[in-house]
Amino acid sequence: MTARILSGREYAAKIKEAAKREADLLGLRPGLAVVMVGDNPASAVYVRNKNKSCEELGFHSVMETLSANTSKERLLAVIDRLNADASIHGILVQLPLPAELSDAEQEVLNRISPDKDVDGFHPVNVGRLSTGQGSLAPCTPAGCIKMLEYADIPMDGKHAVIIGRSNIVGKPMAQLLLAKNATVTICHSHTKDLAKIVREADILVAAIGKPRFVTADMVKPGATVIDVGINRVEPKKLVGDVDFEAVSEVAGAITPVPGGVGLLTVAMLMQNVVTAAKMQLQGNCNIEKTDKGKMA
Ligand code: NAD
Repeated sequence: MTARILSGREYAAKIKEAAKREADLLGLRPGLAVVMVGDNPASAVYVRNKNKSCEELGFHSVMETLSANTSKERLLAVIDRLNADASIHGILVQLPLPAELSDAEQEVLNRISPDKDVDGFHPVNVGRLSTGQGSLAPCTPAGCIKMLEYADIPMDGKHAVIIGRSNIVGKPMAQLLLAKNATVTICHSHTKDLAKIVREADILVAAIGKPRFVTADMVKPGATVIDVGINRVEPKKLVGDVDFEAVSEVAGAITPVPGGVGLLTVAMLMQNVVTAAKMQLQGNCNIEKTDKGKMA
């Protein structure tokens, strides 16, 4: 079997088109502020891509660049100013923060108004997601769900296995799949007999950060494989957490790296900025429910 390739480019374009349409209907210009502390080169690339997507869609975009030795107080003051700025509907602080600020990471994220928290990392949004009231879910897993929907890959009643339990990918992915009525198993670094569990997956999400960790013998024939991992193996070569060549002979559908989930993440950020703008416009930031607000 040769798997269907789920192209990040194709589905990211669909997500962005939908975000743009929704913004046009709102009749306002959604605004995103990205705060970057220090000059981490990888972060600089991500931030440029976010700004470029805003430009492409005609959204207002503000970049706050602070030096690596910025104090926590100064960073919190910038967030306070953006929280109060009515032209800014979404705020994100690019992670990781420089080493001197890494202990303050949660405090910094918690300072962003939950209604402008387009990364979905604020505890209020984490709680909303897990109680079915989540409108601002973390972009990477939310983008994966949109892709599965657009690709007509059923989730209801399927066994979804996620490898990885981070707050950014693994845990919110589990909540989102649960809300789609999948039966969800989360595997992590302490999981026993991981390969056996992974082989049971109809939908497999790999978010580990280990190059080509998932091999063909770990994948059920016909399964959908979503590779979130991004690993640099040579100066100019990126690979995912899945052995793409071998697994695409077994899987039913698979995302490539590069050209897969990474593109969905930025597209979903655009959608979250529009969702945040909509909630702020309607003034009912806490009440928008997902379709599975109550789960039987
Ligand atoms: P993380 O380091 O926070 O979490 C990794 C997870 O993998 C942990 O929960 C850990 O328990 C699990 N793990 C590690 N070794 C394991 C093993 N041997 N067996 C089973 N589980 C194991 O990473 P993260 O932030 O969730 O990111 C994961 C990967 O996804 C990274 O490669 C990262 O670069 C990538 N990523 C991509 C995007 C994107 O937009 N495509 C976004 C976020 C993260």
